Amino acid sequence: MIDYAEFSRRADALRAEIAAACQSAGRDPAEVELLAVTKTHPAAAADFAARYGLRGVGENRVQEAVEKRPQTAPASAALRWELIGHLQSNKAKLAAQHFDRIQSVDSEKLLNHLDRAAADLGKVLPVLLQINAGDDPAKFGADLADAPRLVEAALARKHLRVDGLMTIAPLGTTPEETAAHATRTFNNLRTLRDELAARLGTPLRELSMGMTNDLRLAVAAGSTMVRVGTALYGAR
Ligand SMILES: *Cc1c(COP(=O)(O)O)cnc(C)c1O
Repeated sequence: MIDYAEFSRRADALRAEIAAACQSAGRDPAEVELLAVTKTHPAAAADFAARYGLRGVGENRVQEAVEKRPQTAPASAALRWELIGHLQSNKAKLAAQHFDRIQSVDSEKLLNHLDRAAADLGKVLPVLLQINAGDDPAKFGADLADAPRLVEAALARKHLRVDGLMTIAPLGTTPEETAAHATRTFNNLRTLRDELAARLGTPLRELSMGMTNDLRLAVAAGSTMVRVGTALYGAR
């Protein structure tokens, strides 16, 4: 693991990159949150994020977060823990218990499990709906065509709060192809959000899109949250 000084330099550089992308796009950098992706890294990675002033961390496995979260420093208690990896229905209860938001909700079955789990816990669980906006056969997420029905179903659940949408762009075989996929995917998600927000009369404010290699393209397309692991903590 890197030390805090190195983390802080990397986070400064990322914030500058996000600010530059915002400036080109005529956006306010305050609209784009940097989510530190701590998966595979020790609890200290989350402590670095909190100490730097980031508000949330992303993990892609339930069990890993359940073990890691109690190992973080008391000063990190305000960090928001977000699940960004695929969630199976049989882990919905555990996830609802240990995460502050679930970004990877991609089926009505999972919605129902999470809604019931949140009801049992006496809470309203914030969620994002994961959409396979790049039509990637290798990725989880609801198909674009099924997204409107999924969003409506989620909005009808009393114990879920739908904050917005999340996507992961497909990889190409060349950097140019990867960039083209990313731009198409992010624009698809933005367009979908704008249409649904207008039609359903709800903001769906959060657009969680962009990672280490495509965050500039995501910010240009309207991302409100970039999820960054490698550029903060190094290769996994
Ligand atoms: C691992 C992961 C990230 C972070 O990816 P990096 O390329 O390391 O920045 C972002 N989002 C999801 C869903 C991930 O699984």
